[in-house]
This record gives sequence, structure tokens and C-alpha cells, in this order.
Amino acid sequence: MGHDVVVVGAGFAGSVVAERLASAGRRVLVVDRRDHVGGNAFDELDAAGIRIHRYGPHIFHTNAPEIVDYLSRFTAWRPYEHRVLARVHGVLVPIPINRTTLNALFDARLADDDAAAAFLAARAEPGPAPRTSEEAVVRAVGRELYELFFRGYTRKQWGLDASQLDASVTARIPTRTNTDDRYFTDRFQAMPADGYTAMFERMLDHPRIEVRTGVDYHEARDTIDAGALVYTGRVDAFFGYRYGRLPYRSLRFEFETLDEAWHQPVGTVNEPDERVPYTRTTEFKHLTGQQHARTTIVREYPTAEGDPYYPIPRPANRERYQRYGALAAATPGVQFLGRLGTYKYYNMDQVVGQALAWFRKSGSAQWAA
Ligand code: FAD
Ligand code: UDP
Repeated sequence: MGHDVVVVGAGFAGSVVAERLASAGRRVLVVDRRDHVGGNAFDELDAAGIRIHRYGPHIFHTNAPEIVDYLSRFTAWRPYEHRVLARVHGVLVPIPINRTTLNALFDARLADDDAAAAFLAARAEPGPAPRTSEEAVVRAVGRELYELFFRGYTRKQWGLDASQLDASVTARIPTRTNTDDRYFTDRFQAMPADGYTAMFERMLDHPRIEVRTGVDYHEARDTIDAGALVYTGRVDAFFGYRYGRLPYRSLRFEFETLDEAWHQPVGTVNEPDERVPYTRTTEFKHLTGQQHARTTIVREYPTAEGDPYYPIPRPANRERYQRYGALAAATPGVQFLGRLGTYKYYNMDQVVGQALAWFRKSGSAQWAA
């Protein structure tokens, strides 16, 4: 079959765009260099038959009804609210920091929100709007809590001190004066009932979509070029790294299946202590709701080398990206989308939103049949 559009990458960005363009009458070829669809959200059964996420734990959460409505065409949902405990001084306490955290660590006996707010205000170091991740946390909760929960975790996760990262990184984690111990407070929090991979397979199951996995676009481009291209791989690779490499942080995942039904009380346990070489341990059965006599966990070891998982938000990288972004905008017939294509630290729902917005604004008018 001939193709009107080639989509590089079968993750959220590529799959949403492929589905939208095919539904609008275009013939779409999707290529992914990996041997599967789903991008970093890919899940599968491990040797013990336990559903795992090969590229680390993925929990879906959003405040946007249109994103839920769109994905609900391809999956049913299992409600799931993620909870995370951090190991501090050998004790497991809620993160984001909430009133329970403060009472557990400081024996503070804070009875209500006002008492917790006053406790935090006495420690917070006020100042102008924070520029760095260190400032963002210290302004909100003070230095002691920063050092207990954020300094070591951030150094491990990013290979940088929080003072070298944009405020937006730790601003992902709120501070609470109530006892809400959920990691996210979005209106919609759920997992695809049959897993992410099944959802992607349904999204891409369209008579006008052809999927080729195990194909690297840069190696195959002479044989698969179409008139139009949607590219969700690294933008710096597309342009031959001409302005230098955009830095990414990677992870090594260590999976372990244990002969016990449950390993830990919540989905994820964080390890802010810098001496522990991994950042967090996730037990998948909490996320998926699967019943199984055994259990599989994954530990995340941050690394500089490996697959590009995290764009690193800091001024020098933003400037370098802007040069690539200008090049991208000046390249007709090619649209860059997704976490790698636009070098943005996006969650899944934000990538879906970006892809749908692009299609609505430009894709449907210019790219549809
Ligand atoms: P990707 O999923 O990276 O897909 C891009 C695809 O392009 C890849 O499959 C890649 O193989 C392919 N590709 C790249 N270059 C080429 C090429 N040259 N030729 C062919 N194919 C190519 N988000 C949440 O909302 N909740 C979470 O709990 C969450 N947890 C996360 C945990 C971890 C450890 C990580 C790393 C991310 C997490 N995310 C989470 C973010 C989420 O993974 C991303 O938002 C989402 O997967 C981005 O989708 P994408 O399509 O932009 O990119
Ligand atoms: N963070 C931290 N301690 C924690 C949790 C998060 O220092 O216990 C910081 C760290 O810099 C991390 C960032 O906050 O990279 C964002 O955390 P999040 O859990 O959102 O990261 P992700 O799930 O994207 O890896």
C-alpha cells in the first residue's frame, strides 16, 4: 500500500496522530525502531505471568475530560490512585509531604491544616519566585525537609544538584497541609483495564494504518519516504546533532519476581537517601490490580548512558532546544511531536493533548485527505 504520511514512533504521540490521520482518510505508515508499539508506556507479562511496564511504572492521570474521552474509545479503565512512601531515617512516610509526614517525622501533633501551614511557614525560606528546583522546595518547606526528601533523590535522578535544575522539576511535587496521601490529585486517575499495549493495539488497528516495528527511520528513510512526516523521535538526531546533543537522563531497570504475594504497602517506595543507588521501587500488582501468588518489583537506577527517557530542564538545554525548534519550524512537511520530538518533560496525558491539539489546529486542515 502507498502511504500519504509516515509517522516515526509508535508511542502516545505517534499512535494518536496515526489514528487521527487515518480516521481523516490518510494512509499512514508507522515505524518504530523497537520491536513493539506503545513507546515507553509498553507493558507485557513477565516470565511469571505478572504484568510489568518494561520502561518503568506508568500511572495515567489527567484533568482533561477530552483526553479521557478520546482514549476511552480504545480502552476500559480500572480506577487507581497512586500512593508513594519515602524512606526517611528508616521510616516510611507519605510523599508528597503532608500533615501525616510532618507528624510522623517530628512528632509534631499537628491537628489541622492551619497548624501544619504554620509549622511549614516557620521553616520556609521566603523569597522571590524560585528559579531553581532547590529554591522551589526551600521556599515552600525549608532546608531540613529539602535535604531529607529532595536533595539526594534529585542528585541521583538527574546527576545534577537541584540548584542546577529548573524550578519546574520539583514543582511537580506539591506540599500539603491536609492528610491526602495520593501522589496525584487529578480528577481522573486510572489504568487501562487490559494494559497499555492492548490500548495501543486497538488505536493502531485501522485499515489505513500499517505498523512496522523493528525499523529505524534513519536507516530506512530512503525506502519509506512519503510526502509528509510526523517525527516523534529525538529532534537533535533528526538534524544530525548539528547543534550538539540535547542531554537526556536514562534509567536502568532491575526487575525481580519474589515468592511472596506482596512486597510493600503501596505502589512505589522512594529512596531519597543518596547512599541508596536506586531512586524508587515499584510493585506492579498495586498498579494493575492483578491477582497473583507471586509479585514483581522494579528498581530504577539512574544513568547517563542508555535510552533517552528524561529531557533535562535547565537553561542551557532550553537554549539548545530552541535552536533545534527553529530548525524544525523551518522544515516544511515535517511535524515534530512528543517528549523527544519537542524536548519537553511531558506526562502521557500532555503528549496526547499535544497530539490532539496539533491535529485539530493544523493536521486536519493541511494533512487530511
Ligand atoms: P515515547 O513513548 O518515547 O515514544 C517514542 C517512540 O519513538 C519510541 O518507541 C522510540 O522507539 C521511537 N523512535 C525514536 N526514534 C526513532 C527512529 N529513529 N526510528 C523509529 N522509531 C523511533 N507519564 C505519565 O503520565 N505517568 C507516569 O506515571 C509516567 N511514568 C514514567 C516513568 C518513566 C520511568 C518514564 C521514563 C516516563 C514516564 N512517564 C509517565 C512519561 C511517559 O513515558 C511519556 O509522557 C510518554 O511515553 C511519551 O510519549 P511519546 O510518544 O512522546 O514518546
Ligand atoms: N523528587 C524528589 N524526591 C521524591 C520525589 C521527587 O526529590 O521523593 C524530585 C526529583 O527531582 C524528581 C522530581 O521531584 O525527579 C519529580 O518527581 P516525579 O515523581 O514527578 O518524577 P517522575 O515520575 O517523572 O520520574
